[in-house]
Amino acid sequence: MDYSRKIARQVAAVPRSGIRDFFELVQGREGIISLGVGEPDFVTPWNIREAAIYSLEKGQTSYTSNLGLPQLRKSIAGYVRSFFGVSYDIGEVLVTVGVSEAIDLALRALINPGEEVIYHEPCYVSYSPSIVMAYGKAVAVETRKRDGFSLKPEALEAAITPQSRVVMLNFPTNPTGATASREDLEGIAKLCIEHDLIVLTDEIYSELRYDQSEAHVSIASLPGMRERTVLLHGFSKAFAMTGFRLGYACAPQPIIEAMMKIHQYSMLCAPITSQVAAIEALENGLSAVEDMRESYRLRRDFLVKRLNEMGLSCHSPGGAFYVFPDIRETGLSSKDFAMRLLEEEGVAAVPGSAFGASGEGFLRCCYATAFEDLQVAMDKMQAFVGRL
Ligand code: PLP
Repeated sequence: MDYSRKIARQVAAVPRSGIRDFFELVQGREGIISLGVGEPDFVTPWNIREAAIYSLEKGQTSYTSNLGLPQLRKSIAGYVRSFFGVSYDIGEVLVTVGVSEAIDLALRALINPGEEVIYHEPCYVSYSPSIVMAYGKAVAVETRKRDGFSLKPEALEAAITPQSRVVMLNFPTNPTGATASREDLEGIAKLCIEHDLIVLTDEIYSELRYDQSEAHVSIASLPGMRERTVLLHGFSKAFAMTGFRLGYACAPQPIIEAMMKIHQYSMLCAPITSQVAAIEALENGLSAVEDMRESYRLRRDFLVKRLNEMGLSCHSPGGAFYVFPDIRETGLSSKDFAMRLLEEEGVAAVPGSAFGASGEGFLRCCYATAFEDLQVAMDKMQAFVGRL
C-alpha cells in the first residue's frame, strides 16, 4: 500500500525531531558522554515517590475528574499565586499529561486554520510542529546572541500581522537558557494588548533561574495580561518528574473550558498516581528544588568557564539547564560539529539547528549530567576544538 497517500497532510508536513534523529545515532553505543537529553539527572525526590507508592497501596487506581483532582488544582492555584503572583480559582486550572499536552490543547483550542502563531527561536522542538498540526501558521522570530537570546519587543512587533492570533513565549528558554527582563516583558505585553493577541507562556523552567535576587516575572502577572494569557507549567524539570508526565494550564475559564473539551475526549484525565505525587511535590518538595538548582548552578558556571577558555564563546544563561556556545569560528556547521564531536570524542550534544534555523552556528549542551562526566566531556571537547 502507498502509505504516503494515507497519512494526513498536516502530519506529513512536520519533520521528525532533530533531537530524536541525533539520539538514534547515539543509542546502543558504548562509552558516550551525553550532554544531549534535556532531562534532570536526579531521580524524583523520595517523599514524592513515596506518595505515589502509597497512593497505589491504598488502591487509588481510578480515573479522576477531567480537570484533575480538586486537591491538586487547589495546591496548584496556591503555588501559582505565591510563585507567579497570579490568582486563579480551581476552575481555571487544568491538569494535563505534561506541558506537552497543554501546548497541544492550547493551540488546538485557540487557532483556526491559517491563523498565525508567533514564537521566538531558537526554541523547544515541539513548538513549530504543534502549531502546524493545529492547522496554524508558525511564524518564527529570531533571537540573537547579543540580546542574550531574549525576545525584543521590536522584533515581535515586526512579525505581527492581521492574521496573528497567539504569541508563544518560553522563559527561561530551551535551548538557550535565556531569561526575559521585566522591561521586555512589559513591551511584549503592551503589543499583545494593542493587537488583541493571546499569549501562551511556557514557564516550565521558571524555578531554575540562577539569579535569585530577583523574583521570576511571569507575563501573566503584568497589568491587563491575566485575561489574555495561558500560563503553562509542570513538574518535569523543577521536581525531576519527567516520567510522571504531569503539567497544567492556568487561564480564564472560557479558555480552560475549550482546552478541557479536547482533553476530555482525547486524554480523559492525567494519571491519578502522578496527580497524587504532584500534590506532595507542591506541598513538601520545594526545598529539594532549591538543592537541585544550586547543583545545576555550579555545573553551569563550570561549563561556561571551560567553553570560553577553549575559544567557544558562551554567554552565561540565566536559567534552565542548557548552555548554547557559539561554534561559528570553527567554520563547521552545527550538525558537522556535533557529528564529529560524537565520532571523534564520544561526546553527544545537540546541533543548534535542531531548534530552528536561527540555532545554526550553536550547540546545545545540557548540564544536567554528573560533574565528573562534564569534566571529561569538556576535556574531550577541548581536544577536539584544538585539532580543528
Ligand atoms: N516545554 C519546554 C520548553 C521543554 O523544554 C519541555 C521538555 O523538554 C517541555 C515543554 C515538555 O515538558 P513535559 O515533560 O512537561 O511535557
